[in-house]
Parts: sequence; C-alpha cells; structure tokens
Amino acid sequence: MSTVAFAAPIALRLIDVPAPYLVTDLDVVADRYAAFAGALTGVRVHYAMKCNSSPEILRTLVAAGSGFEISSIAELRMLQVHGVDPADVLYSHPIKPPGMIASAAKAGVRRFGFDSPGELTKIAENAPEASVYVRLRVDDSTSVFPAGNKFGTDLEEAYDLMLLARRLGLQPYGVTFHVGSQCQSTGAWRSAIRQAGVLMDRLRDEGIELEMLDLGGGFPAHYVAGDPSIEQLGRVVAEEINLLPYRPGLVTAEPGRFLVAEASVLAATIIGRELRGEEHWLYLEVGAYHGLMEPLQSPGGWDYPMSSSLPDHDELPTLPFTIAGPSGHATDVVGYAIPLPAGLTVGDVLYFGSAGAYTLAYASNFNGFAPPTPLFIGG
Ligand SMILES: *Cc1c(COP(=O)(O)O)cnc(C)c1O
Repeated sequence: MSTVAFAAPIALRLIDVPAPYLVTDLDVVADRYAAFAGALTGVRVHYAMKCNSSPEILRTLVAAGSGFEISSIAELRMLQVHGVDPADVLYSHPIKPPGMIASAAKAGVRRFGFDSPGELTKIAENAPEASVYVRLRVDDSTSVFPAGNKFGTDLEEAYDLMLLARRLGLQPYGVTFHVGSQCQSTGAWRSAIRQAGVLMDRLRDEGIELEMLDLGGGFPAHYVAGDPSIEQLGRVVAEEINLLPYRPGLVTAEPGRFLVAEASVLAATIIGRELRGEEHWLYLEVGAYHGLMEPLQSPGGWDYPMSSSLPDHDELPTLPFTIAGPSGHATDVVGYAIPLPAGLTVGDVLYFGSAGAYTLAYASNFNGFAPPTPLFIGG
C-alpha cells in the first residue's frame, strides 16, 4: 500500500525538524499518478492544483507527464515556472475574473470552462475564438464534500449554451462535471457520463461533435475508509465511455485529492490536555486555520488515520478525545470523540495520515500560530 500513514511513525521520529510539519513523500505522488493512469487507461490527467500547489508536487507531476487544471492566473504563473505549456492547461473554474481570462489567453491558454451565458460573454470578449466546455450539474450526493449548487447547469441549458457559444464565435469544445470531492460511489460517475452522452448526442444533430469529455475530480483517496478503488472506478468509466454515442478525441480527468492526499503526514504537538465536565480535550498547535480545515467542512467529521509519538500507539487503551486548534476562536475545534491513547499529554506529537490534500493549501498564520513546515522526501 502506498500510504505512509502507518509505516511512517517510526521514521517520523527521526525527522529533526520540530513539529508542526507536513512531510510529503514525493514517490507516493508519482505512485498515485501511475495508479490513476494505469486504472483509467487513455484518460489524460489534469491535476487540480488548488488541492496542493507545493512547487515540489508540481515538479513531480510535471515529470510524470501530468497536465494541470487551474482557477486563477496566479496558479498559471506557478505552473509556468515549471515549464508547463499553457496550451496544456485547463482553466475549468466556471466563473472567472474577466482580466484573468484575458491574461490566460494571452499566455496561451486555449480551453475555458463555463456554465452560464454571462461567462460565455466574458470569454468571447476576453478570449475570442477560445475553446469552451460546459459544466453539467450532476448528482454529488455520494461525496464527502458535495460540489453543491455553486456551479453547473442542467442538460437542457447546457445544450442551449453550447449553441450560444458557437454564435459568439467560440469553439464548443467539450463537457465536464464534478461529482463532489471524495466521492464514494461508482454510480455517480456512471450517471454523470451518461448525462454527458445525452448532450453529445443532441449536439451532434446540430453538427457539433465534442472533442473533450472531462471527468472532473472527486476520485477518492484512502483515509480510514477508501472505497471505491481506482481500479473499480476505471472499469466503470471504461464501460460508460464505450456506451457513448462516440468517443471524444480527448478524455480527461482532474483529480486533486487522489494524487496527493496519501503522500503526506501532518505532525502536531499537543499543547494542552484538559478535562471539561466529562469531556477529554486535546489542544494542538495546528487547528482548522493552520491546515485542518476539512474536518470543519464535513459534518460527518474525521477520517484521518492517526498515530502518535507514543511507542506502541496502536496497542494502547484509548479514550474519546475532542480535538481543538491553538487559536482563541470558538470555531477552531476539529474533531469529536476521536479514539486516541488515554495517556497522551502535553509535548506528545499526533500524526495525521493522508494529510496531503486541502491542508497546507488552506493554512494561515491565524492568531500568530505558524502553519506546518512543508518537508519533502523521495522524488
Ligand atoms: C477542486 C476541483 C477538482 C479536484 O477535486 P478533487 O475532489 O480534489 O479531486 C477538479 N476539478 C475542479 C473544477 C475543481 O474545482
């Protein structure tokens, strides 16, 4: 298994940088990329870089042959430092600042996502003749972090928008969707690809053949639970692509979490242990605002595989702990009823496995506490 979460605590004790840190094994990133490419044969990867844009990770994925998906011009500039050709970048965010569309087009980005007439107008004005792909709203109910109503349009409107794109002088190029992050059912992709197929079929009657099908993100990484596997997903995707009215020249996907989550371990020192009523509290030097934001975003809570600096962590008797960050803010409580060794105390270090996605990318210096130091091994 590629996760360093359980193999690593012993090695982690040898790291002589003081916690908090986020250590990333770049070989695991390369391994996850290879697993994705192996399971979804013929599907080009465009890494969704918002998930973790560390230069080391970008470099590793460039070396592996990955393309990239961006939301802003600053992200494009970060890629250009690594020699990425803007023509190989997907600018998928459906609502972009007009100036960023113009700058991206000037730099050589050709492909822009959209889901509304307003965005099409902006793209036509700022990137004339660009290729555009429409984002469908699909069932995201089986994901841990649903994509929600913020983006996406239904089939009927998507059809009208693609015809509008052509009238505006744009190239109606493709279709995309997002099943929600950490999606837990293969059925979500199955039905989303079928919806894309219906759109392809209808557009063909208008003389439009799509060049790109973009499967979006949402591919689940392994935390405590980790289903479905990428191999299962690969089989479902292959079956559904065979059922499409035709196969677009480019089938692509925008995995974020899947490629990087399992590569990292976050280490945070315990700065307080208290009993409040019946509740055992652990206060860490890392909280929601320093990297552990995702537990706040998912009401279902906490899925990081845990370890600690205590020898024989896994054999020790446990208590359910409430886990809080270091800041003075009431919202900075990131875990409830987390089973951890009963003897944990101030100065011990907690290790969070599968912490490579959506952690440091969110981290700030809130309340004067520094985010975890990024460390890299392998690569
Ligand atoms: C965030 C995002 C992704 C990546 O999602 P993951 O769940 O991390 O795989 C892919 N595509 C778009 C457009 C996104 O905004």
